[in-house]
Amino acid sequence: MSDSESAAPAASDRGETTRTTREIVTCDTCGGAIAYRGVGPKGPYDTKLKHPAEACESVKTLRTCIRPGDTVYTVLRHVSRSGMMRWVSVLLVEDNEPRWITYHVARACGWSDDQKRDALKVPGCGTDVGFEVVNNLGGVLFPLGFPCLGKGCPSNDHTNGDRNYTLGLAMHPEGGYALTQRWL
Ligand SMILES: [Zn+2]
Ligand SMILES: [Zn+2]
Repeated sequence: MSDSESAAPAASDRGETTRTTREIVTCDTCGGAIAYRGVGPKGPYDTKLKHPAEACESVKTLRTCIRPGDTVYTVLRHVSRSGMMRWVSVLLVEDNEPRWITYHVARACGWSDDQKRDALKVPGCGTDVGFEVVNNLGGVLFPLGFPCLGKGCPSNDHTNGDRNYTLGLAMHPEGGYALTQRWL
């Protein structure tokens, strides 16, 4: 009796730890994620973090023009001499016209930006920084995930083996995959 009692809490403790690999902190004001998957662009998140007002404004602005299933484009502006830093601009294409959203992406996601070049400053040399920026943006805008978009749905659940593409059926938990990224 005393054995099973002492074993039970230990097991649930362990379960708790393994389930929290994907941690999201959302903002009470705008509903966007303050940090996504435990690690934001500026490193591991701090649960005491609060969205600055400008971040909330940018999340709200981006939510008026970006929906799950949209394509977000990236342009490589510059690479540092060391290759460790990339300058990336972000845009949408609406009615064949570019709509530059770099400023808002920087504020919504917490990237540093270079306003002269209208570009995010993204560290890292081995990763596809365009994918990283757009995946992060999807996670920030859709922290609760998104319903299946039907045929062609970009969720990683499908690439991981889910073959059911029924519109609206599954709730895909990783909002980062709600958006498709392309380089221009
Ligand atoms: Zn906010
Ligand atoms: Zn789907």
